[in-house]
Amino acid sequence: MKTWKKTTQSDRLERITKALSENVNFSNDVTLGYPASKLDGKVFYDDASFLKDAPVLMTYVANPNHIGCHTVGISEKAFKGTQEIEREVLEILAVDVFKATTNDYDGYIATGGTEANIEALWIYRNYFINTHQAKPSEIMIITSEDTHYSIAKGSNLLMVDWMKVDVHFENRKINETKFETALENAMANGKKYFIVVANMGTTMFGSVDNPDTYTTILEKHNLPFKLHVDAAYGGFIYPFLTDNNQLDFSNPHVSSITIDAHKMLQAPYGTGIFLCRKNLIENVLTKEAAYVEGMDLTLCGSRSGANAVAVWMILKTYGKNGWFEKVKILEMRTDWLCNQLDALQISYFREPFMNIVTLKAAFISPEIAHHYDLVPDSHQDDNHWYKIVLMEHVEVGSLQELINTLKTTKTT
Ligand SMILES: *Cc1c(COP(=O)(O)O)cnc(C)c1O
Repeated sequence: MKTWKKTTQSDRLERITKALSENVNFSNDVTLGYPASKLDGKVFYDDASFLKDAPVLMTYVANPNHIGCHTVGISEKAFKGTQEIEREVLEILAVDVFKATTNDYDGYIATGGTEANIEALWIYRNYFINTHQAKPSEIMIITSEDTHYSIAKGSNLLMVDWMKVDVHFENRKINETKFETALENAMANGKKYFIVVANMGTTMFGSVDNPDTYTTILEKHNLPFKLHVDAAYGGFIYPFLTDNNQLDFSNPHVSSITIDAHKMLQAPYGTGIFLCRKNLIENVLTKEAAYVEGMDLTLCGSRSGANAVAVWMILKTYGKNGWFEKVKILEMRTDWLCNQLDALQISYFREPFMNIVTLKAAFISPEIAHHYDLVPDSHQDDNHWYKIVLMEHVEVGSLQELINTLKTTKTT
């Protein structure tokens, strides 16, 4: 553990108050040039007494804009206090969780996992164009069929073809033979550069890809590739529970990672985190962004500094050990559910160290699925699976109810 320690409530309040005092204060300072201000005072009272004890709300009202990327070059000086808070968040995640070297990464708090994934695809498409003179038609995205649909959006926007690799139905692992055949076909069709997205927790199954499946075959064929990790869902649970994480920066093949704070971390929406190794993010520099002080390297433009403060508050309330204890409880509940299902001989998929249990649809009537709000893998007629996500509010009591229902429907 390097920097991720928990702090007291008063230390947190003091730190955020200090950060805000280092930003411009639209109420008192003379600032004439920004198309920005604090939140509308008629609607969002800035003198409400509860604000003085609520660092995140205080920041919302002050309304700092974190436009741009603050790990490289200079940044908009008006909001330097809270930008420093964002850098502290990135440092904790990059170094303490994903094993990067201090200051040896870039990143920012994006609007979500979708933006962070598209940022990665954008960086690598341009990287292959800039350093290998690749034509976009020679580049291909590779993912498993279980990958999140944000990759479909990225492929469409960036006009880069996408290969969806089959997985084995039961264990959701990448089918190596099918991958190699598909790769050889792609090569025969002129594809030369590859952007691999490996999942740390797919949305439907929580399955975690073994990146070696991709990299071994790509290396065997001597193909240039970049590897991005989509840990949007699993990033705040899997690394804490496994002691064999191949999807962090200790793996030299991993160049970038997406982690959503607004899923497992329970931060407000608008907090997807993008991290990458140094000297990559410059591939998406928008030179036209001349009026923004510093470099614009992000897909979104203006974004709220309050999001950075919200994530910082959660991280500093728990500390690394506190967070480990929290996700350990979710793991125990997941184990409990799996044991009950085993006893009932109901088949399911569950990735170790993850908190998603995906039940075979044959064992669940549509009425039960509807009653417990289980999510199907497809909203059409051909669904094979229903998932249970063991979030904070999903307690053993409610799981017990489901198990009881399954027991009675089984015997009658
Ligand atoms: C949720 C999710 C995303 C997209 O994230 P948003 O924050 O909804 O944009 C991407 N990948 C995975 C694996 C996800 O679970």
